[in-house]
Amino acid sequence: MPNSQFNLFTKKDWLLFSIIVFSIIAIFTTTNFSTDILPSHTEVQDVEYLVDSKKRHSIASILINTTDTWQQRTQTQTSIGTSNQKHWFRFTLNDINQAKPMLLVINNALLDNISLWFIHNKKIIQEYHLGDSLKFSQRVIEHENFLIPVPLHQQQIQVYISTHSKGAQRLPINVWQQKDYLEYSSKSVLIMGGFFGLMLAMGLSNLFFYITTRASTFLVYAGYVLFLTLTLAALQGLGYRYLWPNSPWLQQHAVGIFVNLAFCMSILFCNLLLNIKAHSKRLNKLLNANSALFLFGFVASFIIPLQTIIKPFFVVVLTSGIIILSVSIWLWFKGQIIARYYTIAWIVLFVSGFTVSLDTLDVINVNFPSFYLFMLGAVIETVLLALILAINHNQQRRALLSTQEALIDKERQTQQAQRDLLVTQENATEELEYKVQERTLELEIALRELSETNQELQEKNTLDALTGIRNRSFFDKKHLAEVRRSRREQSQLSIVMIDIDHFKKVNDQYGHLVGDECIKTVAKILQSALKRPSDVACRYGGEEFALILPSTDLVGAQILVEQLRAEIENTSIQAEEVSINITISAGIGTATLSFEQPEDSILSLADKQLYAAKNAGRNNVQSSSLDVFKQQD
Ligand code: GH3
Ligand code: MG
Ligand code: MG
Repeated sequence: MPNSQFNLFTKKDWLLFSIIVFSIIAIFTTTNFSTDILPSHTEVQDVEYLVDSKKRHSIASILINTTDTWQQRTQTQTSIGTSNQKHWFRFTLNDINQAKPMLLVINNALLDNISLWFIHNKKIIQEYHLGDSLKFSQRVIEHENFLIPVPLHQQQIQVYISTHSKGAQRLPINVWQQKDYLEYSSKSVLIMGGFFGLMLAMGLSNLFFYITTRASTFLVYAGYVLFLTLTLAALQGLGYRYLWPNSPWLQQHAVGIFVNLAFCMSILFCNLLLNIKAHSKRLNKLLNANSALFLFGFVASFIIPLQTIIKPFFVVVLTSGIIILSVSIWLWFKGQIIARYYTIAWIVLFVSGFTVSLDTLDVINVNFPSFYLFMLGAVIETVLLALILAINHNQQRRALLSTQEALIDKERQTQQAQRDLLVTQENATEELEYKVQERTLELEIALRELSETNQELQEKNTLDALTGIRNRSFFDKKHLAEVRRSRREQSQLSIVMIDIDHFKKVNDQYGHLVGDECIKTVAKILQSALKRPSDVACRYGGEEFALILPSTDLVGAQILVEQLRAEIENTSIQAEEVSINITISAGIGTATLSFEQPEDSILSLADKQLYAAKNAGRNNVQSSSLDVFKQQD
């Protein structure tokens, strides 16, 4: 926990601390605590005691006993050690005022068995049997302390008391005037009521805090306060008077049961509040083991009353107290501010508890009912711890809140990052799509260009390189297509075969280049002579040409070819500085083919007619129609 945050509270808290502590002290002092409640009693003087270790004596035998020597109890000594033996006490009450009823008060609520005899002239006037091994209702006067009315009919009276009890043999005996004790008792009731009321309120309110917050420190603290309160109530005899009057058994065991639970809780509380686990795993384990030890003590107290093992128990308590104090001082020096307050709270309880213990053991003599001192210490400690707890809880809540805020902030950042990522992804997708479209378009363009080039290439494939007119391969396809069409449509088709006359000689005489020029000229003339878009002129091979003339009858073809022949004859070809004239021979074949006739019928007819034209002396046109033969047939 960062100190800086805690420091925010410090000034305010200290103020609150001081106000609470001072007001508690003020309440105690203004109730004339120090003077008024100092009992106006007379302490019994010259008490003699005898340890009857073998329990040999009865009241009858002790009265006539001369062998054992009685020992004198000193002025301040109320305790004669912690043993489990039978003890005898005796003293004399003088100057008993018959007008004022008197009380003998034994101020140790935990004595198990007390027998008391009032003796006059070695005769028993009255006897009482008390102790918390008896039911509360069996007491002469129902009060948390043992009160015995003094018989009034004698001026001087001897008192014999035998006690048999586990634990400290404390026997503080006082003589009171009944009236004075009543006044004292009512004041004491007020203080006790205030004290137990405050402790109960602290315990219960923290229990409610636990129910609302579910923070286990509140529960442990509430447990600690309530068990501490019950322990003190048991020690004072108030528990027996108000809470378990019919259970002498519980009265015997109550202190052990509650004090063990209180210590168990207080160590757990230290462990949780100071968050020892975060500082040292070993220390955490040690504290847990320590609280487990008290838990064991709690179970054991059902069998063994605490009074019988009071000495080892004190050692354990002292050790645990020192451990807790050392741990909290260590954390204080490590800079944990809560540990500082915690140390102060524990020192208060420790000092008061220690003082009370010393007073009880007669090491020191506090001129003051020491139990009140311990109550004051307990109240201050309880209030301080509650305050620390509240501050710590508030601190943790703030830390939790800021952690949550940080978490929410982080989540918001994450969401923003996710949104950014999504936007980036969308942008990237868009860009990708755009690029794909761009590439597709480019590809389409490239494909179109390719197909155009392809077409061009195909076109080029059908052209003759020398003349630029259609070549033989085109002729073959076109010829077949036109033959089939003419047959399908039953239209006349004319095919013309043309051959340059004596071309060998041209080559021989003028060379091949001139020959080529002649071929080009003939091709040009053929091309330009054809008027219909369906007419085609092709170079058939060498110096041979072919014309396809769809839907052309024999006469139409004759006229066209005759014109061609005349034009070529009359054309002087200029090449290589020579002027030459050439002639052609042509054969025309015309027909409307039936499906029975072979597809190359017209072509071979035209070829035959060309052969005929050559034979007829060249430079002439021969023609024939298959339809004529049909008619002739
Ligand atoms: P005919 O009148 O009987 O047709 O006599 P011809 O000399 O033309 O005889 P033929 O048709 O048998 O000879 C063709 C000659 O044409 C053979 C070859 O030298 C020539 N020739 C064929 N193709 C080409 C060509 O592309 N260029 C040139 N310069 N000469 C060619
Ligand atoms: Mg030829
Ligand atoms: Mg020829």
